[in-house]
Amino acid sequence: MKAFSISGYRTFQKCQWQWYFMAKAKSGNVKNDPYRREITMLSHLRTLASWRGQLVDDVLSNEMAVAFNQKQRFTLDDAIEVALRLFEKRLHFSQNHEYRDVDNKKSHLPEEFSPLLEHEYDLPLSEEQLDGAWLDIEIALTNFFQNEPFVEMLRSAEHLDAQRTLNYKLEGFSIIGTPDLIVYSKGQAPLIVDWKVHAEPVKRYNQQLLVYALGLHLTLPQNRQRANWKKFLLTDYRLVEYQLLKNDLRYYPVTEDYLNQTRAFIIEGAYKLQLAGAEDTYNFDDLQDLEQTDDPENCLTCCFRKICNHEQKPTERQPNLFDWEYS
Ligand code: SF4
Repeated sequence: MKAFSISGYRTFQKCQWQWYFMAKAKSGNVKNDPYRREITMLSHLRTLASWRGQLVDDVLSNEMAVAFNQKQRFTLDDAIEVALRLFEKRLHFSQNHEYRDVDNKKSHLPEEFSPLLEHEYDLPLSEEQLDGAWLDIEIALTNFFQNEPFVEMLRSAEHLDAQRTLNYKLEGFSIIGTPDLIVYSKGQAPLIVDWKVHAEPVKRYNQQLLVYALGLHLTLPQNRQRANWKKFLLTDYRLVEYQLLKNDLRYYPVTEDYLNQTRAFIIEGAYKLQLAGAEDTYNFDDLQDLEQTDDPENCLTCCFRKICNHEQKPTERQPNLFDWEYS
């Protein structure tokens, strides 16, 4: 059964085929099905913009949060050093198409396994674009670590939970969400942080944060290690979207009205996914009942173009792959 996630539902709204490939056909356990194995491999591809966002995410979630939890030093210099190592390893791995080697598993090679869509699809990728991506990574990390009040708040927190998956039920639907960071500070309601590396952050992510807040409030009672934070009302929770390239922190309130809207949004979305077969076992023929996107720009940044027989309509605008945002 496929749980509702906000990112999955966004994909479904963009293109039902893309959702099907990502949510239903992809599987790490399909040795004898070459078609699904190919889908699974393609699902790892990211555009350069998304790739650099993932790298920043990995440095903060896997290195910074772990060090701070252990009350160890982790500075901007440490972050840049790790980022440069990942940048070079991932670029080399991707350029050489090593992700296509069946023995190279993402779970075994977390530092290397991050293939670029541009390499798989032979799209031009200039030195200038790569330099730009590295510069963005440096800017994002520098902004973060130079925000001393924020970093100090994380350092002094009782616990940081990075990329913790929250599984919960709402009106019988299974819901899943993975916030970038949950901060547990003494005597304060949990703070949920979502960081983004977007060049032009026009969109707001309060809805995504509210989905996480609902999940955290419902799952905290089962989490014995975080018992001290059970007493807080959901409306006491604090939500922040951190646009790292702009050094812009956007705090969002949790109100009863927003929560009701979020519950309604989740239930409607989960119901639509259920109708599209989210809970059914994989069956290739189900794809024919789903719709392909009408927007050719969605296809240009889609990792499944190779196996999707969608006839692409011409587009007037030339989308800049480098500006495609990571969400
Ligand atoms: S190539 Fe286009 S139609 Fe096919 S899955 Fe991707 S976005 Fe959808």
